[in-house]
Amino acid sequence: MRIFSGIQPTGRKHLGNYIGAIRQYVDGQDRGEAIYCVVDAHAITVAYEPDTLRSAVYDTAATLLAAGLDPGRCIFFRQSDVPEHTELCWLLSSVTSFGELNRMTQFKDKAGAQRDLVSAGLFMYPVLQAADVLVYRANEVPVGDDQRQHIELMRDVAVRFNARFGETLVVPEHRIPEVGARIMDLQVPENKMSTTGGTPQGTVLVLDEPKAVAKKIRSAVTDSGSDVRHAPDKPGISNLIEIYAVVRGVSFEEVEREFDGAGYGAFKGAVADAVVDYLAPVRERYTELRADEAGLEAAFSAGAEKAREIAVEVMHDVRQAMGVGPVRDRR
Ligand code: ATP
Ligand code: MG
Repeated sequence: MRIFSGIQPTGRKHLGNYIGAIRQYVDGQDRGEAIYCVVDAHAITVAYEPDTLRSAVYDTAATLLAAGLDPGRCIFFRQSDVPEHTELCWLLSSVTSFGELNRMTQFKDKAGAQRDLVSAGLFMYPVLQAADVLVYRANEVPVGDDQRQHIELMRDVAVRFNARFGETLVVPEHRIPEVGARIMDLQVPENKMSTTGGTPQGTVLVLDEPKAVAKKIRSAVTDSGSDVRHAPDKPGISNLIEIYAVVRGVSFEEVEREFDGAGYGAFKGAVADAVVDYLAPVRERYTELRADEAGLEAAFSAGAEKAREIAVEVMHDVRQAMGVGPVRDRR
């Protein structure tokens, strides 16, 4: 059983990323052969600064290691160090439908948010994401709920490839958590918490100081009622219940029972304390790991070497199946 997921080095990662994705990455190490990468080649599809990108890659890597990824128990690397990802992306573009890419909601949202250039790379983003997963023949992709459409597309691409060129690629399944797959912005609980699209006050960063975490949670937007109840017409309170349930490892019903009659103020205070406790150890380990850039580079290059062992073989099979390049035996 092979697990693959990637995470963007755009800005600093937030509580939504942590609960929806990173938490699952850590678990994946016990469930199969886990492969994770920091997707710098995806990050260049929107406006960015080269120097900031490089340091954001280190920030994200140190965050993941601080959260519990262990390069001894998973393959952990930087996407651009394994050129097979971008090579497969191009080959897969010939079995990806333009119309399907044009319907991707993430593309529409992000294209709309760009000030000047809407890059072709942003349009191709889901094809590179398909290549990331398919180049390892991964069985499972842990992601948040917003990635459902992209995973469907990569499955279609794999199926179409196999139908056209013969059984070569594995059609992967998504793994979306039942609780916490879509943590909402604390100020605009109709929108998902986001690295690039959210409000600063509504986005709890994994590396925020405890005081800042508590302040953001205590000032979360809620409805005018007072019942701590998970319900469709209570997006703000429901979001806080979801966060508390994950962080404390309890069910919604248990949260509702615990705070029956307590009022929003007391509930928000308890959520704030719980999240502060949850993130504090990560933040401490991060500081130590982030200081050692040479150590992070060493981890990346060891990881890329292991990743390439798999990717090179799959690329060989893909080229042979497609009739690209000379006939060759596997190494
Ligand atoms: P952007 O908004 O720029 O796309 P992002 O916040 O979605 O950034 P990514 O690096 O694209 O961050 O996502 C990393 C992982 O976190 C993905 O698996 C994604 O599904 C998950 N994720 C992102 N936002 C949330 C959220 N609000 N709740 C739960 N999971 C999330
Ligand atoms: Mg995203």
